Amino acid sequence: MNHTSFGHPIPSPPPIDRAAPPAGLYVHLPFCVAHCPYCDFVVYAGSQARGPRARTERLYAAVDRELELRADALDERFGPGRPNLETLYFGGGTPSLVPGEWLERLMATVRLRYGLAPDAEVTLEANPGPDERGDLAAFAAAGVNRVSFGAQSLNAAELRRLGRRHSPEDVAAAVAGARAAGIGSVNLDLLYDAPGQTVAGWEAMLRAALDLGPDHLSLYALTLDDPDAEGLTGAAGDHLPTAPGARRWREAARREQDDDRAADQYRLASELLAATGWRGYEISNWARPGHESRHNLTYWERRPYEAAGPGAHAFDGVGRRWNAAGLERYIGALLPAEGSAALPPGDGEIISPNTAAAERTILALRLDRGVPASWADGSPASDAFAWAQANGLLEPVDLDGEARLRLTLRGRLLSNELLARLV
Ligand code: SF4
Repeated sequence: MNHTSFGHPIPSPPPIDRAAPPAGLYVHLPFCVAHCPYCDFVVYAGSQARGPRARTERLYAAVDRELELRADALDERFGPGRPNLETLYFGGGTPSLVPGEWLERLMATVRLRYGLAPDAEVTLEANPGPDERGDLAAFAAAGVNRVSFGAQSLNAAELRRLGRRHSPEDVAAAVAGARAAGIGSVNLDLLYDAPGQTVAGWEAMLRAALDLGPDHLSLYALTLDDPDAEGLTGAAGDHLPTAPGARRWREAARREQDDDRAADQYRLASELLAATGWRGYEISNWARPGHESRHNLTYWERRPYEAAGPGAHAFDGVGRRWNAAGLERYIGALLPAEGSAALPPGDGEIISPNTAAAERTILALRLDRGVPASWADGSPASDAFAWAQANGLLEPVDLDGEARLRLTLRGRLLSNELLARLV
């Protein structure tokens, strides 16, 4: 049955016990002009990203090679004729630093070895600054039809505090540039619970963002994690160690965070965007109808995706694997001085059926269509569901004749408490 009352079909629960070919492909391009102090993505900045010692050409060639090797492995595993990709996502880092010719080459490899559906969503993350947003016309010509700009703020003082290189005016110019290039879907990332913010300033920022005419907004609370303490930065780790300066910055910023202010900011965004016809289709993501991120829905719907690039994660329906974050070992494996190319170092895990069921529920609850009410019956999650309904975190809804349970606004604000009970 195809339910459409929320603007997107509600799929049957995805399989959790069967490996399947990827529906999407994530490609991690890790270079940034400068490293923002709060960021713990796999990023190589400064002289590794620009100038005579840059590692960019080698990395792009290595990613191209990895795409080939991963495609060989998929051919072997699933045979020829697997379905074309529905989504392709270039994330980073700042993928918009990639020269147009390299993007074309990577896209050609993807088209040839994976196949791209005619209506595939092809997203590229970009920074708004004039020397970072890249050649948007070349990206569009290569097939990019969605751009996600890392705006983070539209307030000049906040941007400086966050260590960002662009101005609010650059964000406006970047959106206009994407439109002029014919890119049909534009996202802006914005941060709340950032140091120095006020709720009134946040409202002004949201209104200014809407005035720029984007199609999608990702609103994230600033998270200040410590990948070293979490054990994610070893030889096979998918994160890089945190620099001492970034550690100090995070400690200072953490002192200026405020849960109550963050809740007010979230509530305000939810109400303002709903009042202007936007759909909060996921806890942190809002879209004008038809502009939901199909690639990110692949993750939330727990469908299989392939991945390439340092630190990138893939999921095949039964297990997860990831590449190690280190650049030299990544390039060394794929472009060896002698001998044949090998897949880069990394690690992986098979997900147990119980963990898979919990993941499926947790991810589905992030979406505004929630889960079938039957998932609460007699399952290990039934106590958590009953607690959440009794405390106003979950509400029953009828979507096209199907009884479902979904998070209320209060539930979105307190989702971590429910999710912890589901693990
Ligand atoms: S530009 Fe984006 S990816 Fe690069 S360091 Fe800053 S936040 Fe991280």
